[in-house]
Amino acid sequence: MKRTFLMTPGPSPVPSFVLKGLAKEIIHHRTDEFRAVLEDVDKGLKSVFSTANPVLILASSGTGAMEAAVSNLFSKEDKIITISGGKFGERWTEIGTVYGLNVVNMDIEWGNQPSLEDLNQLLDKNPDAKAVLTTLTETSTGTVFDVKSIAEICSKRGLLSIIDAISGLGQDLFLTDEWGVDVVVSGSQKGLMLPPGLGFISLSEKAKRALTNSNLPKYYFDLSKALKSYAKNDTPYTPAVSLIVGLKESLDYINKEGVIARCGRFAKMAIAAQKAAKSLGLDLFSKSPSASVTAICSPESIKSSEIVGILRKEHGLSIAGGQAKLKDKIFRIAHMGWINEKDLISCFSLLESVLQKLGHKFKPGSSLSVLEEVFHG
Ligand SMILES: *Cc1c(COP(=O)(O)O)cnc(C)c1O
Repeated sequence: MKRTFLMTPGPSPVPSFVLKGLAKEIIHHRTDEFRAVLEDVDKGLKSVFSTANPVLILASSGTGAMEAAVSNLFSKEDKIITISGGKFGERWTEIGTVYGLNVVNMDIEWGNQPSLEDLNQLLDKNPDAKAVLTTLTETSTGTVFDVKSIAEICSKRGLLSIIDAISGLGQDLFLTDEWGVDVVVSGSQKGLMLPPGLGFISLSEKAKRALTNSNLPKYYFDLSKALKSYAKNDTPYTPAVSLIVGLKESLDYINKEGVIARCGRFAKMAIAAQKAAKSLGLDLFSKSPSASVTAICSPESIKSSEIVGILRKEHGLSIAGGQAKLKDKIFRIAHMGWINEKDLISCFSLLESVLQKLGHKFKPGSSLSVLEEVFHG
């Protein structure tokens, strides 16, 4: 069987110690044995989220947790502010609109991060807004947002801050409690080194109070019900047992290194990737590059889909192209979860050979010397 190595910003590779957890015989979820797993996982998730708040586990992809945030915290016609500068930020606007909320969108240029001055002005104009919903790492553009400052603005104004940290968690530094973030959403298939299938949502005291006022319809994703079960170390419905058993393994691994040390390591990998791209005469797409994914502009004469296609077909390496208006313009290399320095070196080595084949001119080996220098210099 042909192996494909994933350096896409979700799904990301699953290490063997997590696969072993996933492959264990299924256990019943209403048992002491499973409750012990849930208890460990809860501690582990709190460390990774840097919070003392409950982190609920949902059987869904990350988007399910985003939808749960909207359907549980608001009522029809509530005003919310969404900040979007890419494909995933737009999702908050779409979900809010589907639920009949009054959505005010702050649309920023892709690859940029929001101006705090503009946000303050928009909030001055919308004193009745209940919350700001945005993204830690905009995966479609490889951009990290200054979520700390956004959360501070929200706290000062008594607004809920709701952050999609689906791809950033574990690589881009994110301190839920210290920064006063109310609601954090994540998913399993990015930094957490699991297959797709779990969504996560943490709720501050302020967010828990907001739950009780919401009148939007929900059943499976009723977070008040989930919190009641959570208090008894239980889940309202059958949880995704195997994924949660695997999650315990991945959290143990992440917390052994420590999430802050880990973010430092990925920040270094991101800097290495940025410098390596530049050494090949390529521009970065983002003005605020993330530690989780590097978005690189394709040379003028080459469609990024060609680069991505050859890497996958001929070398078994899967990276991501551009989405929506960035299709064929950029390619994205993920460095998240199980990806390490060695993977980045192989990725750039293969990228050099593909770029050469497609006629892009650069000094062969230059990206590899740059990586070597950052990692070992
Ligand atoms: C991957 C991703 C999502 C979507 O998650 P799914 O698990 O595909 O539902 C949402 N937001 C960001 C920032 C992402 O990277």
